[in-house]
This record gives sequence, C-alpha cells and structure tokens, in this order.
Amino acid sequence: MAFSIFYWANYTAGTRKLSRKSEIAVQSDHVLKFVYDKEASYVRGTVQASMRDRSYNVTITLGPNYNIEDSTCECVNGQDKCHHKASILLYGYKNVSKTDVRQSWIKNPKSAPPRQTKTMEELFPAPDRFCRV
Ligand SMILES: [Zn+2]
Repeated sequence: MAFSIFYWANYTAGTRKLSRKSEIAVQSDHVLKFVYDKEASYVRGTVQASMRDRSYNVTITLGPNYNIEDSTCECVNGQDKCHHKASILLYGYKNVSKTDVRQSWIKNPKSAPPRQTKTMEELFPAPDRFCRV
C-alpha cells in the first residue's frame, strides 16, 4: 500500500502557504529522515529548517479517513500546523509510493521487456577495412 496524497492534501487544505512551503522543502531535499510504520500508522522524520544549522524532529500518527490523529514538531509552531509536518506527509507520498511500484515490478518479471534476437551480422559487424576497395 502506498502512502496516500490525501494525508498531505487534507492537512494543507485551505492553507496555500503551507502546501507551497512543504513542496519547496521536499524539492530542496529538506527532509533528512523519514520512517513510515504502516502497522502502527505512524510516521517519523527530520526536516531541515530554513537556517542550515537546525533541523526539527516530526512525529505524525495517521487517523482514519486520511486525517492526522496526532502530530508533533520541535519548531515554534509545533503544537499547531507547520510546514515541517506537511513536508513529511508530502515526502511520504512521493517516496513510499515509488518504492512500492518498484517492488511490485520486480515481483513480476513478466513485465520486463522481451529479449531481442540479433543476427550474427549485427553482433559481429564486418570491420571497416574489408569494405574498402
Ligand atoms: Zn514544525
């Protein structure tokens, strides 16, 4: 199961600034660490702050209907909504789904491209010098 985009969409709903800032943070590789425990519906991560020497630890508990049940962040807005939490949710969507797709592809070797048959001439083309007169 992939990490749904709806967690991020719900979390940032109605706050354009929050969605934009988290998009920039993910694009800039500000998400330093990401752990997703599917069984526990629990996400943990570290997001780099705008100032380089700081990073914030984020924890998120996922609830039903793609809602966030509980969340914490070490930043000043950590009790409320902040873009670090949003960044973790967006990162999860972009990366967890990618991994799942790759795993399912490996499990199905049938989807690999068919092997091509080549003639001897294609494999061992005649050297140039034989063609010259
Ligand atoms: Zn924060």
